[in-house]
Amino acid sequence: MTLREVLAAGTALLKSASFPFSQEAQREPTPALDAALLLASVLQTDRTGLILRDAEPVSEGDLQQYTRLLERRLRGECAAWILGYKEFWGLSFTVSPEVLVPRPDTETLVEAGLAAIDRLPADGPCTLLDLCTGSGAVAIALKHERPAIEVYASDISPEALAVAAGNAARLLPKPGIYAIESDLFHRITGRFHIITANPPYVPSDMIPALALEVRREPHLSLDGGVDGLDLIRRILVQAKAHLYPGGTLLMEADPGQMQTITRLLKNQGYGPITRIPDLSGMPRVITAGFTGSDS
Ligand code: GLN
Repeated sequence: MTLREVLAAGTALLKSASFPFSQEAQREPTPALDAALLLASVLQTDRTGLILRDAEPVSEGDLQQYTRLLERRLRGECAAWILGYKEFWGLSFTVSPEVLVPRPDTETLVEAGLAAIDRLPADGPCTLLDLCTGSGAVAIALKHERPAIEVYASDISPEALAVAAGNAARLLPKPGIYAIESDLFHRITGRFHIITANPPYVPSDMIPALALEVRREPHLSLDGGVDGLDLIRRILVQAKAHLYPGGTLLMEADPGQMQTITRLLKNQGYGPITRIPDLSGMPRVITAGFTGSDS
């Protein structure tokens, strides 16, 4: 079989499997992309390489290896775990079962973070804290785009922090980012100009309804308690002691949670508050200015 035929067969196989699509999962099935990425990994090339070599025969050994990867995908493992990496913000992040796979919609948080950085005085310093950093995707993307800023990334999970530190070492020149093991602000001292977070925000009882591949991700990175807002509530209260006046708090959340979060932020004295839409036009990121009242 030629490479083109093998790819067509792999794509058809993944298309025929109906992965339950969950809106919550922020992830639509991408059978053609998955089939191509898995084949490219077996042949140690990339998607351009597949196109250039599409008339070449695929060896029996490679075909068997490809079949094994397709079977794992069919059993509900997401492509990122099988490949061991996920593209986010044009960078290739190592992922493992200890971290949430970065979602395309979370690039909205990076964009909003960049806008917040760019609103600070151009000649002044910028220190940024990314809570619940997981694979480090948001922290590393921001540092990659704005190398002059000082970035701290924290997570409660030492395993996740190790993944983030590995990604930073590979994707950023030294000193990269500073990784801190901490339950939210527990071990964080000092103030920051910007705090970003993509905390777990799925209501506990929604977890069993998530797509199989999402349920396999660490529940620690998904489960936000009864209404999904446990961590968000703690963050928006505690962040006031860790933001400079004029600083900004940016959080990803579910579109259905935006109204409640806006109210909670207003109660805590934040303003102005802005909601930013994700790729499907739903509000996914909320940004809140901190005026300086610490009460
Ligand atoms: N809605 C996200 C997902 O399931 C949840 C991620 C999160 O809790 N931060 O993809």
